[in-house]
Amino acid sequence: MNRRYRKTIIAGNWKMNKLPSEVKPFAEALKTLAPHAKWCETVICAPFVDLPAAIKAFKDSRVAVGAENLNENASGAYTGEVSADMLTDLGVKYVIIGHSERRQYYGETDVSVNKKIHAAIGAGLQPIVCVGESLEQRELGITLDLIKLQVTTALSGVEADKMRKIVIAYEPIWAIGTGKTATAEQANEVCCAIRATIRNMYGARIARAVSILYGGSMNEKNAAELLAQPDIDGGLIGGASLVPEKFAAIIATANQDQA
Ligand code: PEP
Repeated sequence: MNRRYRKTIIAGNWKMNKLPSEVKPFAEALKTLAPHAKWCETVICAPFVDLPAAIKAFKDSRVAVGAENLNENASGAYTGEVSADMLTDLGVKYVIIGHSERRQYYGETDVSVNKKIHAAIGAGLQPIVCVGESLEQRELGITLDLIKLQVTTALSGVEADKMRKIVIAYEPIWAIGTGKTATAEQANEVCCAIRATIRNMYGARIARAVSILYGGSMNEKNAAELLAQPDIDGGLIGGASLVPEKFAAIIATANQDQA
């Protein structure tokens, strides 16, 4: 983390978990357990049907609400889809874009990710853009080249003044939901490469200000080591964000004063 230059963000990704009726009890528990967020922005990204309950439950707190996906079109005949304006109208602030599960199961590509980023920033949402390599790609030694391509394509056509709104999450696919975390050094190396890519595209001042998160089996036990890395500005957290005690412990770690 480097709080002098950028925001620390702890974001939960509930995926397809929690019923709308389970949102309020979770929010009450988290509000009681989580420390006053002195340093970090806390976000809960929830399924579409949970969003109204989440907005209501976190209204008087400092927890922002995010969606897990959106459609790249503004409106029209896209049965079953949700637009960026629909999310902002509800009070949603963030949206996860290009999660590896969406790339794997729903055919999302770097090009569709780019379109979704444009739709999100056009509507005033803050995208949390996910990039990451498979185990096979890591073993082939192409991680950094692949990540550079993912970041460059995702940000194509995004103007410099919009970069303030964009958060990047490095999520090695082999570490998501597997209990296998990248070592702090592995995670920092890729986050540092992401920042270098942004520096090449937008210059040093903007690169220094972009928050880059790590995601992949982050939990209350390994968060401190990961968050101590200079280029890791927070976490995108799946499993551990479903349990208020675990999520609150990660927030507490991110809130600790830096040495
Ligand atoms: C995720 O869903 O983005 C994620 C990192 O999941 P988990 O923390 O469960 O690995």
